[in-house]
Amino acid sequence: MADFRVLADELAQLRTEGRYRPLRVWESPQGVSMMSGGKTYLQFSSNNYLGLTGHDDVKRAAVQAIERYGVGSGSVRTIVGTLDVHAALEAELARFKGTEAALVFQSGYTANLAALSSILGADDAVISDELNHASIIDGIRLTKATRKVYAHKSMEQLEKLLRESASFRQRVVVTDGVFSMDGDIAPLPDIVALAERYDALVYVDDAHASGVLGRSGKGSVEHFGLYGRVHVQIGTLSKALGVTGGYVAGSSTLIDYLLHKARPFLFSTAPTPAVAASCLAAVQVLERCPQLVRRLWDNADYMRSGLQALGFDTGASETPIIPIVIGDPAATARFSDLLAEDGLFAQSIVFPMVAWDKGRVRLIVTAEHSRQDLDLALACLERAGKAEGLLSA
Ligand code: PMP
Repeated sequence: MADFRVLADELAQLRTEGRYRPLRVWESPQGVSMMSGGKTYLQFSSNNYLGLTGHDDVKRAAVQAIERYGVGSGSVRTIVGTLDVHAALEAELARFKGTEAALVFQSGYTANLAALSSILGADDAVISDELNHASIIDGIRLTKATRKVYAHKSMEQLEKLLRESASFRQRVVVTDGVFSMDGDIAPLPDIVALAERYDALVYVDDAHASGVLGRSGKGSVEHFGLYGRVHVQIGTLSKALGVTGGYVAGSSTLIDYLLHKARPFLFSTAPTPAVAASCLAAVQVLERCPQLVRRLWDNADYMRSGLQALGFDTGASETPIIPIVIGDPAATARFSDLLAEDGLFAQSIVFPMVAWDKGRVRLIVTAEHSRQDLDLALACLERAGKAEGLLSA
């Protein structure tokens, strides 16, 4: 029988390059302390920024929704799949984001595919930061728009590309709000000013910014005070909000258009009632508890300065995403394995997620980590850093 010899060869190549990563199976709930293979790890790799995955109100909302509606949603949204709980979630998200309307999708990834493939046509130009998330890249690939890429956060290049794009029907500038591999923040005020000068639309993916940036965690627009000046805000319900799903927030024209045109919306079954209800509860918890966001930032700042004081290279990080940049994939994997042996789980991120020589162990600090957790992690990182020659002994 024919087999996947070509694929097997590629897998063997991944092994020789230190890029083969079997899935690790966890036996405990999301949290700072998690068990895998019977061993407990202090964990710094979850996107559960505010600890909402296990919040009582969020869990209770899911259970009650299952009791009331059952587990499935029965159809796509446009047939019998739109429940009152979906509508309530969308109204809440629009209020949370300060937009006229919002539309929920099965994931943040899907939200990007849906929005980009719907908004952009063959006569349009899309201008994208080179470090934008894969779901943005994939969404753009689905369109016939002319794609232009600017060097990471280079406003000079962005301006040049905007100037060259005057003849297109629409110009859409797309950026992550917080970049997921480096933890730096997009210069949104500059992007918005340039977009306004060159009559372009602004599209921000706030997957790692919602629940994180802004005094009350509303994201990039709140952080920079740019209400009414960003045309598309993408969010995920799977990171700080702790559940699963994604959404697009913007004008009622945008949302009405997506509702009629976005293929992932039209052709995929609605998120389950339990997901919609628990997401709604999670947004309400966040709105009630802005102190969670403050705790997250206190922890992130403590950890970043602790790492820098030890002598680690934390790259451009300015958020709870803190990379320790190491270099080639094999050295990066070795460092992550050494930490795991010592009881600290911090995922290694290597090519193609980042450039070949920019392999890193990415730490994600959450509001749930205690000071003691952070100090334990710093001690462990110091030991591994010295053992691997990343820090002087
Ligand atoms: N956009 C960005 C910037 C992300 O980091 C992610 C998650 N990796 C997504 C979109 C996709 O979100 P989700 O996991 O909800 O599909």
